[in-house]
Amino acid sequence: MPLVSMRQLLDEAAKGGYGVGAFNVNNMEQIQSIMEAARETKSPVIVQASRGARSYSQDKFLYHLMLAAAELYPEIPLVLHLDHGNSVETCKSAIELGFTSVMMDGSLMPDGKTPSSFEYNVQATKEVVAMAHAKGVTVEGEIGCLGGIEDGHGTGLDGLSHLTDPAQAAEFVKLTGLDALAIAIGTSHGAYKFSSKPTGETLKMDRLIEIHKLLPNTHLVMHGSSSVPKDLQDVINKYGGKLKPTWGVPVEEIQLGIKNGVRKINVDTDNRLAITGAIRKVFVEQPEQFDPRSYLKPAREAMKKVVALRMTQFGQAGHAGDYKPVSLDEMAARYAQKKAA
Ligand SMILES: [Zn+2]
Repeated sequence: MPLVSMRQLLDEAAKGGYGVGAFNVNNMEQIQSIMEAARETKSPVIVQASRGARSYSQDKFLYHLMLAAAELYPEIPLVLHLDHGNSVETCKSAIELGFTSVMMDGSLMPDGKTPSSFEYNVQATKEVVAMAHAKGVTVEGEIGCLGGIEDGHGTGLDGLSHLTDPAQAAEFVKLTGLDALAIAIGTSHGAYKFSSKPTGETLKMDRLIEIHKLLPNTHLVMHGSSSVPKDLQDVINKYGGKLKPTWGVPVEEIQLGIKNGVRKINVDTDNRLAITGAIRKVFVEQPEQFDPRSYLKPAREAMKKVVALRMTQFGQAGHAGDYKPVSLDEMAARYAQKKAA
């Protein structure tokens, strides 16, 4: 199956009432983990790469690994998505390379740190929508600012400083015509999201529900949604790691989000934790090993387990065979038709 647009996956998810995990990758092993988990659970899947990942992998490597994944797992609808594009230029280069979906994060200025104005965000996102939709490529935007920093991108503030205003979100969607909207409801990037188990005070689920009521047809995206499970933290610390106690987003809160319009859930930290724990374990238990495969294989297996579990929890499991891929050309024609109507 060729790489497909994210719009198709999310439209199908909305019809089926489930969410789709979007997992970040930098290398071959992470892509393999996700694809194995997708096959095992029969899940459609979104693989995403940040600017940091693109530069780490010189992005051509990443792109061709994704083509290999599409070839080796023809039964899995598969999206290649740009995570947190910081400028129109970055989105343009991703589309030219072959990404089938891009995020224009105009909530921040192109430096990826400074919160922007609403006008700037509308302008930049609109520009990307015009460019992307002409090629059938999906666009995710962001309104409000997430907390924390991921791959050098983010305000570094806590997740409650720039929450999404529901009325502004509705205005933003109307003005830009985007496909999916990332909202700030108190989540942060990175491992250190909450210093205690989040409650209604820290995670603003009622705000999410309010946004969904105003925008029932917009696919909502939850960023920074790793659950940072204690057992994964424990493996790292047991084998010489030094993670401080931390809490992520409870899976039941994500499931409540999915009941209220969340269709894409970004997960990165949980996979990083799984990989690092597995590698540390081999280093401590088998110090005589020096073949990278001796620790990369268990690392791959550990990440696959977490991804498969999330796919089941988000509800995407079992849906890989529900539909036939729609080509990007056909998607472009649909956008053009909608615009003309
Ligand atoms: Zn994010």
